[in-house]
Amino acid sequence: MTPMIKADQVCKNFGSLQVLKGIDLEVGSGEVLCLVGPSGSGKSTFLRCINHLEKVNAGRLYVDGELVGYRQKGDKLYEISPKQAARQRRDIGMVFQHFNLFPHRTALENVIEAPILVKGESRAEATKRGRTLLEKVGLSAKVDAYPAQLSGGQQQRVAIARALAMEPKLMLFDEPTSALDPELVGEVLSVMRDLAEAGMTMVVVTHEMGFAREVADAVAFMDNGVVVEAGQPDQVLGAPTHQRTRDFLSKIL
Ligand code: ADP
Ligand code: MG
Repeated sequence: MTPMIKADQVCKNFGSLQVLKGIDLEVGSGEVLCLVGPSGSGKSTFLRCINHLEKVNAGRLYVDGELVGYRQKGDKLYEISPKQAARQRRDIGMVFQHFNLFPHRTALENVIEAPILVKGESRAEATKRGRTLLEKVGLSAKVDAYPAQLSGGQQQRVAIARALAMEPKLMLFDEPTSALDPELVGEVLSVMRDLAEAGMTMVVVTHEMGFAREVADAVAFMDNGVVVEAGQPDQVLGAPTHQRTRDFLSKIL
């Protein structure tokens, strides 16, 4: 089966700064990959490359069998048009550390905006699905609340519903609970766990090792622009083979 994500020697630099130095990774359809590693190791940059918010400088990155951001002819690569890039990005949901909700729109309005504007869904249809999604993330009582009236955990759950409203085939989470007060982390992880159980393909950058152990099919430890080791959660988190992984885990656990 075609993997949902395949990274083959993916490199990314910002000017002379090499941030990704040859990432090899695969995520199968329906799998959850947790990406862990120290700050500055390139985790967010890798997610942004998958979502084509950053251009890969070398190597190949595929989502669902399709080259991200480029079209290949013979052995030459050509950049795709902004329109084609937007089409690729549409199928990928992303959730950030800071929820980035529109402050002057209600929870429901935040969720239905993209389906209406980008997908051309009718307001009635988008609203119906939006309510269902907000119910799914436990917020049926908050559909008409504005972001400022919601806790951080509730706002993040709206952000997840908003991403799901585009019916993505892949969800990327960049430290979705890092900005939350500790007592609000669980409700967001629980929504993510439900999503994983429903079969969503997910890449999750997180420091929540309990979540990684329970929910992930694979964990990859990144350091300094490379994947140092990857494998089953029990192996990578419980019996890491590399000293760098052990050092990192001993600091966060
Ligand atoms: P992580 O998410 O693992 O903390 P990042 O991917 O955010 O790491 O960053 C990796 C490195 O790339 C850092 O040194 C960061 O400063 C640098 N970096 C990230 N984005 C940019 C950018 N747009 N321009 C220049 N440097 C960047
Ligand atoms: Mg980051």
